Amino acid sequence: MKTFANYIDGQWIEGKTTAPNVNPSNLDDVIGQFAEADADDAQRAIAAARKAFGPWSVSTPQQRFDVLDQAGTTILARKAELGRLLAREEGKTLPEAIGEVARAGQIFKFFAGEALRLGGEILPSVRPGLTVEVTREPLGVIGLITPWNFPIAIPAWKIAPALAYGNCVVFKPAELVPGSAWELVNILVESGLPQGVLNLVMGRGAVVGEAMVASPDVDAISFTGSVATGSAIAARCVASGKKFQLEMGGKNPMVVLDDADLDVAVEACINGAFYSTGQRCTASSRLIVTEGIHDRFVEAMCNRLAALRIGDALSADTQIGPVVDARQLEQDERYIAIAREEGGTVIGGERLERATPGFFLAPALVTGTTADMRINREEVFGPVASVIRVKDYDEALAVANDTPFGLSAGICTTSLKYATHFRRHVQAGMVMVNTATAGVDYHVPFGGRKGSSYGPREQGSYAREFYTTVKTAYIHAGQV
Ligand code: NDP
Repeated sequence: MKTFANYIDGQWIEGKTTAPNVNPSNLDDVIGQFAEADADDAQRAIAAARKAFGPWSVSTPQQRFDVLDQAGTTILARKAELGRLLAREEGKTLPEAIGEVARAGQIFKFFAGEALRLGGEILPSVRPGLTVEVTREPLGVIGLITPWNFPIAIPAWKIAPALAYGNCVVFKPAELVPGSAWELVNILVESGLPQGVLNLVMGRGAVVGEAMVASPDVDAISFTGSVATGSAIAARCVASGKKFQLEMGGKNPMVVLDDADLDVAVEACINGAFYSTGQRCTASSRLIVTEGIHDRFVEAMCNRLAALRIGDALSADTQIGPVVDARQLEQDERYIAIAREEGGTVIGGERLERATPGFFLAPALVTGTTADMRINREEVFGPVASVIRVKDYDEALAVANDTPFGLSAGICTTSLKYATHFRRHVQAGMVMVNTATAGVDYHVPFGGRKGSSYGPREQGSYAREFYTTVKTAYIHAGQV
């Protein structure tokens, strides 16, 4: 069995302990043993990043472009192989996994360009003889803590801007999916990153993540994951004066109006709610449907659900892979039971047996629900969506906004009037018209409002708001 080490201060360092990386489609398939960092390893990684920051912060944009561009090229060239690894460790289907890897490659290409595009501003001063120059500088050492549901794309969209703008990184991937993270770091090392600029510390969040959040030598934390962990990290960062950015949960509404194209609506809802096994923070978990189309919509959804092929993520004909692990499966089943107890009617949602032992769950559609039920207020993070029947557009919008979250929201309608009003008035960071709430581009901002996110947006050129700090210089040129 191959063992994978942490990467600290330019060296591959074995862990004192290791953890197995298990395939959720086949629990007999162990991908490898991955090093588990402890708090001392995390401290060494932070110190290495601190030491490397001086030279890296003044490296030329060309140097940073070259490393990131090369990494993007390698990721894209290896997307089939890396996609297979990702599907094997996380459980999304092979096409979804290859698509995610390609996105990671494109993110590195985009941020390679951003290294060259980081401009500033020159303004005339309000005082005579002075000029004002506004520039951006890197923050220092950034701690990146990532979740399991996008094992390469989320690390990519944090690491690429951090490095592009001249920061050094200590990266802690989710313990469930260290394989893609290890390959990504290896690719960056082979692309020519100087010693100490990027450090990989695999291991438990409560140990390694905790050490990063506690360290006075870490200048900022970018986190994606659960609301509970994000909120705890936020409190620690405020206390220690760190800059931080949080991407957390969603309870994303998809509104379907009477005038919607039924086929478009069903496709958007099946994709948004159930693809990637529903394990997306942008998943459409609340389907808010007006009464004129409700029965036709539910019937069409049930027909599509019955035809979905659930199975091994690596099989060519699988449309929905397994749930990521036993704990998440237990959470999904618990919420399905809660929905039933609250009076919902559950279609699907049963455990499935396949040729290999794995965490297979039939997607569940819960009908007859109301906005106040727990199934419509709390994030499940699995292939579970509920239908809320409403009278008209006004009620649909009110229900869509009746949530502590605000990540993504969608509407299916052929009315320009309703689509326009919804775009403006739904309380979400991202809005989709006639397309799924999940699935976003890599060159534009990603993030939400309310309880879903905190801090500047990720991705696109907006990422510079988090990964740089602004300096205002006043220059008096003197008399000539
Ligand atoms: P967590 O928020 O616990 O994990 C996210 C990351 O934070 C992981 O790398 C984790 O490490 C790390 N972490 C955990 N505890 C700490 C800590 N005390 N200090 C610093 N870092 C820490 O989410 P889970 O993976 O446990 O998933 C639980 C639920 O979170 C899901 O069921 C889902 O509801 C939600 N979730 C939401 C996501 C989103 O994108 N919005 C993504 C993933 C989950 P490690 O796991 O390695 O121990």
